Amino acid sequence: MKKKIIVIGSGFAGLAAAIDLADKGYAVTVLEKNEQPGGRARQFTAEGFVFDMGPSWYWMPDVFDQFFARYGKKTGDYYELTRLDPSYQIFFGQNDVMPLPAGRQELSDLFEAVEPGSSANLDRFLKEAAYKYRVGMNEFVHKPGNSIWDFADLRVVSSLFRLQMFQSVSSHIRKLFKNEKLIKLLEFPVLFLGATPEKTPALYSLMNYADLELGTWYPMGGMYRIVEAMVSLAEEKGVNLLLNQEVENVNLTGSNIDRVITRNRDFEADIVVAGADYHHIEQQILPYEYRQYTPEYWDKRTMAPSSLLFYLGVNKRLNGLLHHNLFFDEDFTLHAREIYDTPKWPSKPLFYVCAPSVTDPAVAPGNCENLFVLIPLAPGLEDTEEQREKYFRLVMDRLERLTGQDIVESVIFKRSYAHRDFQQDYHAFKGNAYGLANTLMQTAFLKPKMRSSKVDNLFYAGQLTTPGPGVPPSLISGQVAAGEIKKIFSP
Ligand SMILES: Cc1cc2nc3c(=O)[nH]c(=O)nc-3n(C[C@H](O)[C@H](O)[C@H](O)COP(=O)(O)OP(=O)(O)OC[C@H]3O[C@@H](n4cnc5c(N)ncnc54)[C@H](O)[C@@H]3O)c2cc1C
Repeated sequence: MKKKIIVIGSGFAGLAAAIDLADKGYAVTVLEKNEQPGGRARQFTAEGFVFDMGPSWYWMPDVFDQFFARYGKKTGDYYELTRLDPSYQIFFGQNDVMPLPAGRQELSDLFEAVEPGSSANLDRFLKEAAYKYRVGMNEFVHKPGNSIWDFADLRVVSSLFRLQMFQSVSSHIRKLFKNEKLIKLLEFPVLFLGATPEKTPALYSLMNYADLELGTWYPMGGMYRIVEAMVSLAEEKGVNLLLNQEVENVNLTGSNIDRVITRNRDFEADIVVAGADYHHIEQQILPYEYRQYTPEYWDKRTMAPSSLLFYLGVNKRLNGLLHHNLFFDEDFTLHAREIYDTPKWPSKPLFYVCAPSVTDPAVAPGNCENLFVLIPLAPGLEDTEEQREKYFRLVMDRLERLTGQDIVESVIFKRSYAHRDFQQDYHAFKGNAYGLANTLMQTAFLKPKMRSSKVDNLFYAGQLTTPGPGVPPSLISGQVAAGEIKKIFSP
């Protein structure tokens, strides 16, 4: 008899764990509360528009390649990737836009033009970032973070200083570059990790390597193609994926979960992987005596931001937009303070607009534009229709002004999404969008642990545990959790 594994949640982490465990011979069932798999990366269609609901940046293509290669597959077996060039553009103000070329020489030329002499520093910066990427992505992220001893081998310890764990990415960048635009450009990628550049270790300039060297890619048809690929691989491996099965309870015998319970069914379990938000499973599903953290512990965590999103269908083509557009025309320090220090709805938010129809005609009807607008917000804010509408007007005014065209009157489809939806759809703690921030004190073994210390057969995966937020880390998280299970339980 094969051991029965129940995976809760079909996000990237849950699917990755399920695929790996089924591949190794366990009997795997995935229970997903929503009617569609993919978690935060779901997709919906409306009025002929196809909207990816969450991730839109396909970074670190090597992680996806390695994931599929483990099972003798290629990404090309499932989806077609396009490298974007320019990778994205940043609006610094009226008629002040910086497109980021994909080519390395063109990038050096851009740095030289903005800050004479800076291309030599860019070379140095990227060489260091390449080293961090190699060590970080080959060693660090694959460690479960059970304890400090995971990191105790000499090679890793001796590399800690070279990895610049103990200085911030912000000070690292500011030592090499003086121009504010270049600084903003280089600080932007760590925002994906959920904390400010001042609070993020310089290790994470590995994200700049991902951005500037490995490039920004797009799977034609949308990011949901990755989910479809993983579901197809899971099915090929024999994973039983059940939708509309919200886990409401677990039954324990001794210190083992032996049954996982949804509204209308009951599933036997030898091992459980919690791929749903860690806080939800730990604080809301597990009986009190089996919780390893307190509500105070969770309250003190630095959560990555939530977001206010707008999915917009526009009945004309727009000028001046690329696939990815960052609006950094306001003061980031103020916005960051209003996310992290004194959480409130922001006075002058920065925002991001994705227009995938610029690259992909399949995501919008002819002569239309598909827009996804994202405003990062503090988690835990009161989220009302009035606030959403106020911010819609605010960002659309800026978008119209900075791109010099009317847009609002051409919007034929509009859906908003924020804290309430993140809570309702994913049980997201404080309505977070991207999980737990990668601050120094929440990195590696300082994150909520992958293996429960109170329930012997319970493992966690996903963006609230190691290695952290983002699609590639969540994928890796599922694989690492599967690896931990294999070390302890035979199939
Ligand atoms: C708006 C937005 C934009 C983003 N942009 C990017 C980007 O451009 N690039 C990038 O790399 N990353 C991006 N991210 C981050 C990335 O999407 C996430 O880090 C990743 O998808 C998280 O995967 P996960 O498997 O940990 O969690 P999830 O995707 O949340 O999966 C958890 C699953 O568990 C299910 N679940 C919850 N409770 C239960 C229950 N009780 N019973 C059964 N099932 C349950 C949920 O429905 C969900 O399907 C973005 C995220 C958001 C929200």
